[in-house]
Amino acid sequence: MNQKIIALITFGFFGKEFLDAISISVSNEFQCSVIIKESRIDFGDFYDSGRRQYNANKFLMAVDTMIVPDSTKVIGLCSIDLFIPIMTFIIGQAQLGGKTGIASMYRLGNEQYGLKPNDALLLERFIKEIIHEIGHTFGLIHCFVPNCVMRSGSYVDDIDQKDRQLCSNCRTKIGLE
Ligand SMILES: [Zn+2]
Ligand SMILES: [Zn+2]
Repeated sequence: MNQKIIALITFGFFGKEFLDAISISVSNEFQCSVIIKESRIDFGDFYDSGRRQYNANKFLMAVDTMIVPDSTKVIGLCSIDLFIPIMTFIIGQAQLGGKTGIASMYRLGNEQYGLKPNDALLLERFIKEIIHEIGHTFGLIHCFVPNCVMRSGSYVDDIDQKDRQLCSNCRTKIGLE
């Protein structure tokens, strides 16, 4: 694939080393340039007081209105608890074959499950989730190859079982070597 730029827009604090590692992984996986931009948004607009969570559809729509020059994909990164009406929670979503996706770190930390925090594992999970959502924006649907990053699964156990890479079928589908 030739020139394409993926923009990762951060909402809230993410450490620089963390973002650098994400950027390198995304760039390697999709053979493209990655730019990272900080942004702000009023998450209060997406808050559902009944569920005490944030509406992912509204967040996705808000990110979709953000134009990052020269970028073909725009992915919003956050660490708030996202939901869509039919699910208890989601860790990310994206437009299939579109421009925009979102991913949240909120449910990916060990401490959510009463386990010892592990930053390396948290980063690994978040990278997998981001690559998964970007895969959707390139038109990839869920894959049944067990370790493919496009395999479905919203739970950390599912995520830990897959690689951070696309399988060769998925790569071929979107024109990667
Ligand atoms: Zn998916
Ligand atoms: Zn696959």
